[in-house]
Amino acid sequence: MTNPGFHDGNALAGPLSEIFALDVTTARRRCPGCGREATVAALRVYDSGPAAVARCPGCEQVALRVARHGGTLWLDFGNGGALRFRVADGV
Ligand SMILES: [Zn+2]
Repeated sequence: MTNPGFHDGNALAGPLSEIFALDVTTARRRCPGCGREATVAALRVYDSGPAAVARCPGCEQVALRVARHGGTLWLDFGNGGALRFRVADGV
């Protein structure tokens, strides 16, 4: 079989384990809406609905959605992109 020129997502296991082993709230992001740079901890989180919605403190644009349903945790970064994790059930 020839090499198609790319790897599957398992190639990211090492780098992602390094990222998610850290305190994610210290990560910085630049808002594509207003250009403000802020840590995840500085985002405004609204959690009265089925998902926690984190918004930019400058312009209120959605930065991240986090939802947990049983043993599944969803991280949605917008634009149709989301990551689904299997986690311990019932927390
Ligand atoms: Zn913004």
